[in-house]
Amino acid sequence: MQQAATTKNLILASKLSAWLAMGSLSPRKVYWEIKKMEGVPNTKAMFNHILLGLLWRDYFRFMFKKYGNTFFNPDGFGSQGLVDVSNEQENFNKWRSGQTGFAVVDAVMTELNQTGFISNIARQTAALYLINNLEVSWIFGAAYFEEKLIDYNPASNWGNWANVAGVGNDQKSKSVFDLDKNIKNLDPKGNYATIWAS
Ligand SMILES: Cc1cc2nc3c(=O)[nH]c(=O)nc-3n(C[C@H](O)[C@H](O)[C@H](O)COP(=O)(O)OP(=O)(O)OC[C@H]3O[C@@H](n4cnc5c(N)ncnc54)[C@H](O)[C@@H]3O)c2cc1C
Repeated sequence: MQQAATTKNLILASKLSAWLAMGSLSPRKVYWEIKKMEGVPNTKAMFNHILLGLLWRDYFRFMFKKYGNTFFNPDGFGSQGLVDVSNEQENFNKWRSGQTGFAVVDAVMTELNQTGFISNIARQTAALYLINNLEVSWIFGAAYFEEKLIDYNPASNWGNWANVAGVGNDQKSKSVFDLDKNIKNLDPKGNYATIWAS
């Protein structure tokens, strides 16, 4: 599934994840509440978005049960080794403190640091930038998200990171949007970056 990236996507979120991750809200409850509301005008796209999210949640939980500790291997499920870059720590520090110089990424990291929550597209943006542009191992990013996210969940966090890094069990996954292609549309007027300017 290829996702279009726009400023709307950067903030699009039901924000149910913390309650789902803590177990204080059941995914079944969400599913049946949505089913009850079927047919209410202008809700279909949002509800489909949430239901799709719940499927991804299940997917990563099942994969975690199947693969266990493999989820935490730097090589993931594949054979690629870690990229050995001497300035990895320096780049990682810039990234986590929102000081890469790249406005959208810095805004995403500032929102994460200040609130503990960012949308799915924001997570993918930050992860892709860390891995591809700063050439830092995805393990550093996953561990940092683990520390910061209010909805942290081992299966969802490490599974998504491995997928973004291309070392997940679905190495041909198209779920991650193309950062280079979409970066111009993410925040064309700088609205999001202005809100989270550090
Ligand atoms: C690098 C990275 C790390 C992530 N780490 C976590 C994490 O630690 N905990 C976590 O709950 N989600 C994680 N996600 C998945 C997803 O980004 C969040 O669940 C979602 O952004 C939470 O916002 P929401 O509740 O508004 O989701 P909505 O879009 O409204 O989706 C509804 C629910 O579906 C589930 N869901 C949606 N997308 C995904 C997905 N890709 N994978 C798994 N479940 C999903 C969540 O429980 C979410 O609350 C991560 C994604 C990425 C790319």
